[in-house]
Amino acid sequence: MKIAVLPGDGIGQEVVVAALSVLEKIDRKYGLKVETEKANVGGTAYDESGTPLPDATLKLAKEADAVLLGAVGGPKWEPLDYAVRPERALLGLRAELDLYANLRPAKIYPALVDASSLKREVVEGIDIMVVRELVGGIYFGKPKGVETLPDGTERGFNTLTYTTPEIERIAKVAFDVARKRGSKVCSVDKANVLECTELWRRVVTKVHKDYADVALSHMYVDNAAMQLVRWPKQFDVIVTTNMFGDILSDCAAMLTGSIGMLPSASLSGTKGMYEPVHGSAPDIAGQDKANPLATILSVAMMLQYSFGRLDAAADIEQAVTKVLDQRYRTGDIMSAGMSLVGCRRMGELVAEAIA
Ligand code: NAD
Repeated sequence: MKIAVLPGDGIGQEVVVAALSVLEKIDRKYGLKVETEKANVGGTAYDESGTPLPDATLKLAKEADAVLLGAVGGPKWEPLDYAVRPERALLGLRAELDLYANLRPAKIYPALVDASSLKREVVEGIDIMVVRELVGGIYFGKPKGVETLPDGTERGFNTLTYTTPEIERIAKVAFDVARKRGSKVCSVDKANVLECTELWRRVVTKVHKDYADVALSHMYVDNAAMQLVRWPKQFDVIVTTNMFGDILSDCAAMLTGSIGMLPSASLSGTKGMYEPVHGSAPDIAGQDKANPLATILSVAMMLQYSFGRLDAAADIEQAVTKVLDQRYRTGDIMSAGMSLVGCRRMGELVAEAIA
């Protein structure tokens, strides 16, 4: 198992260290023979080599079986030109590795139910997986731009496109993921208005013919947004386009309370990049205050989706549950009666909880 480790900027450096300590423990327990190699990415890479995604980093990521990424960005690099901003490294990695399927679970831990802004009875027990198409759709469609019209006013435009193969491959990912979970897929589109998503609905329905054991439903995106906050427990797997997925995955994630708890995977087959959903959190960077659980849970997703080690992945998730049940909390999920710990200690606690 060759893993490219790209800690990046800000708290990325801290949460990755904590996650690697958990991975080491799991490696020893299951004899996984994990090989890790670190490289710079984001602002840290820009400072060293003038580019947020150096060739050596990209080469390492391409050669590895999986990539573990911390976070990129920060105020220091905000004045830079867009072409060399730290965040460009993420787009570059996604495109170069053709990471077309983004998986974002929204699962609530019983110990954290009260951290959600929604009522306990609405969120208790939710376990949703949002599968978002990541390299197509309106974010990449051409033509795009802003033009000046003859009358001096301006016109901005983007293009929403999806081809049959692009829809087929993301639909297959969603059905395969559903088979290992609750066997339900809800495909979200706007087929009543957008022709492109009319095709989306048609192709998803066709792919479903090979997955008779999985239940398929369709929902318009406006209704899906309402249903996510009204009765989220109706969802198992949601599959949707790049832009709809961008918005709905953030909405679903927030049902669970804290950004410090949210892992993600971006896949191309079994090859994947795994990273916490949060950014580099410059306000708490370097203070040992970050919650490393999102990154630790990203390692669990890596073991599951890139290496097929469901046993080791479940072990990490159970260890996280145990530590939360023991009332240990980082600042972002802290509440009365809990024990406050830092990033490093939280990593140690999870590693210790792996028997
Ligand atoms: P952010 O996610 O970094 O932080 C938002 C808030 O959540 C902050 O108050 C932060 O302290 C808190 N927070 C985030 N992660 C936390 C954790 N693990 N534990 C405890 N608290 C946590 O978002 P932002 O402030 O909008 O962005 C900061 C920088 O990160 C920007 O440069 C942005 O472009 C970048 N960013 C990167 C990624 C990525 O690398 N995938 C994602 C989002 C933002």
